[in-house]
Amino acid sequence: MTMTEDPNELSLFLHWGPITALIVTLTVTLTTWKWWPPEVTFSTSAHFALFVLLNLLAVYNYVLAVLTGPGLLPRRWQPVHYRETKFLQYCQKCEGYKAPRTHHCRRCDRCVKKMDHHCPWINRCVGWANQAYFVYFLFFYALSNLHAAVVLACGGVRFFYSSYRQARLFHNGSLTRLVHYHFFSLFMCIMSFGLALGIVLCMIKLLFIQLSSILKNMTDIEHWIVQKAKSRRYMHKLKPFVFPYDLGWYANLGQVFNIESQLRSRGIDWPLRKGCDQYALTCEQLAQKADKRNRTRTYKCITPATGHWLPIWSQGLMVTLGAPCTDDPRIRLQSDDLVRVTRIRDYWLFGERVIDKDQGGKVDERKGPIRGWFPSRCAVDITHNQASNGSGDHCAANQPNTTETKRRVGKKGKFGKRNQD
Ligand SMILES: [Zn+2]
Ligand SMILES: [Zn+2]
Repeated sequence: MTMTEDPNELSLFLHWGPITALIVTLTVTLTTWKWWPPEVTFSTSAHFALFVLLNLLAVYNYVLAVLTGPGLLPRRWQPVHYRETKFLQYCQKCEGYKAPRTHHCRRCDRCVKKMDHHCPWINRCVGWANQAYFVYFLFFYALSNLHAAVVLACGGVRFFYSSYRQARLFHNGSLTRLVHYHFFSLFMCIMSFGLALGIVLCMIKLLFIQLSSILKNMTDIEHWIVQKAKSRRYMHKLKPFVFPYDLGWYANLGQVFNIESQLRSRGIDWPLRKGCDQYALTCEQLAQKADKRNRTRTYKCITPATGHWLPIWSQGLMVTLGAPCTDDPRIRLQSDDLVRVTRIRDYWLFGERVIDKDQGGKVDERKGPIRGWFPSRCAVDITHNQASNGSGDHCAANQPNTTETKRRVGKKGKFGKRNQD
């Protein structure tokens, strides 16, 4: 497995995710060590060796998951045969085509091979190259925390039992005095026990999700695409969609855990189910995008939107309470901005601001995201007006960044029609 293409490998650890994971792991491990049974016998030593080994294996696989990375598609990537580009989506951010099973990660700002999800705890995506390390990490981390939870629970019970006996034997005061005396140590024991138990439950859940996804050879994102394909094909009375990468559970496991078969695919050429086409999934994605474009509505901004997450001062309480519970960005808008809206909620809309770079010879230098949520009262729906005016803007709304596309095509004339990101 090759190491990451990212040159700042160590800086990946300087992020709240890995730092929090490190602090929690150190807290649980050191407290467990302190509360370890004091007797030195062969079984307690073997027990301790197992605890250290599980921790080392968890840390080893964690570091490999971070440093290896998911496998990034090179910027400006395109298939060997140009004619195949018509089956692929185009990524405007990476200025290249997306290989099958590749998705653009907003946080990594790159196209990621067989992207499963972006994990803040490893500060990277989980994908083609590091999924096996990620799963091993979940497994060993769950076991080491289960071990810690059992030791801490036994240590706590033992403390209370022996303290109670002492208090009764010597008639020298109550249990409360002893508890007070060991307050910090007890607090750390109970907190670490809670942390370890919480981690075990989370790891089991994540492990279950990962393994069921690996056994079907279908990532989280692909699961959504398949769900949408089902309803789209039902609505259009088309043949049901067959997911092309499900080779049976044993072969599917090999796709992730057998390093040879994994390297053979390069994260780009995937073995297929009999009778399936290698672009079956990408063509389905293109059709879904086209459907989405047809549903897109154009809004015009009438009141500026601040781009704040909770705009209580500018928009009031109801808008703030109705804010979508997602980590999607919020966009800032100025009067007369046009936005292509794809999701509509009571108080909020989700869309992409239209950027016309050639307008009046001015370049749009506004900072911040162009795609995200904004309060619905800041804009009005003008889709109908545009269509009846026959101004052609409605068409532009269905083909984002028209000017940008023209500019790019002009610059690289050999590229024909581009698909949207
Ligand atoms: Zn990209
Ligand atoms: Zn990512």
